[in-house]
Amino acid sequence: MGMALDAGGHLTHGFRHNISGKMFQQRSYGTDPTSQLIDYDKLRADAKEFKPLIIAAGYSAYPRRVNFAKMREIADEVGATLFIDMAHFAGLVAGKVFTGEENPIPYGHVIGSTTHKSLRGPRGGFVLATKEYADSVDKGCPMVLGGPLGHVMAAKAVAFAEARTESFQTYAQAVADNAKTLAEGLLKRGVKLVTGGTDNHIVLLDVSAYGLTGRQAESALLDSGVVTNRNSVPADPNGAWYTSGVRIGTPALTSRGFGADEFTAVADLIADVLEATTPAPTRSGAPGKAKYILDTSVSQSIQSRADELLADHPLYPGLEL
Ligand SMILES: *Cc1c(COP(=O)(O)O)cnc(C)c1O
Repeated sequence: MGMALDAGGHLTHGFRHNISGKMFQQRSYGTDPTSQLIDYDKLRADAKEFKPLIIAAGYSAYPRRVNFAKMREIADEVGATLFIDMAHFAGLVAGKVFTGEENPIPYGHVIGSTTHKSLRGPRGGFVLATKEYADSVDKGCPMVLGGPLGHVMAAKAVAFAEARTESFQTYAQAVADNAKTLAEGLLKRGVKLVTGGTDNHIVLLDVSAYGLTGRQAESALLDSGVVTNRNSVPADPNGAWYTSGVRIGTPALTSRGFGADEFTAVADLIADVLEATTPAPTRSGAPGKAKYILDTSVSQSIQSRADELLADHPLYPGLEL
């Protein structure tokens, strides 16, 4: 059992077009239609009926924390292995933002992660496991792994060393604080957010009230110098290609030193773009799902406001580009 894709789960947790969905018979769990939060009671009831071998916890587009203690309790009740995929939020784990029942480490039998997302290291991954699972996990080499990449191993060591520092904890807390600021700024401008806010590093906008698809919003924002990515919202009427959502994460801009003032400004840039964009009509006159209309004077003015914010926070201070 894995989290449904349109609820924020990942392709590799049993999605039918992914190898995981071909190897396993999968049943997904989702979120409550009203609160848009994980419905643990339904998950428990479904798990009792389906009796999964593995319960996969973790997400890449869910703007809330997960109660891993509860996940483990459910897994134990049905005799399942709890696999926690912390690929997206490992930085908030290492940075001690996710503590107690929200810390996956004490609860997962097997925990997988990337090193290149909020953990801020090189592209790669790692697996943690309890002793019970160690032999199985070690079979991953040579079963699914080839040659080691020495340079990536060295870079991972640097990332792990950085993640142990107090300054990384400050960074991870700022990532979460900035996501809250961004969410508040967007809400103030009337933008609808999935779950109504965030308590991790993700803000997921539902742009349907603007008459836009996620794809149109993503393109209009990109045109204005704001890089985001379109993403499904729960029960998305526009499907996984056009979508109705835009997903934003705060780790990169936080690394550049953006704080509350800057993220409030970012919220305004985004809201300004959404308010100024309309869907381009198709030949029949109905609103289309891909093309959009945005006045170039608007996109250019937003791009220059974005440039100003970035100029104040260079990627590598001292390096002239
Ligand atoms: C990003 C991610 C992965 C790994 O994806 P890559 O293609 O290796 O980047 C796995 N699980 C989750 C939940 C993710 O967000």
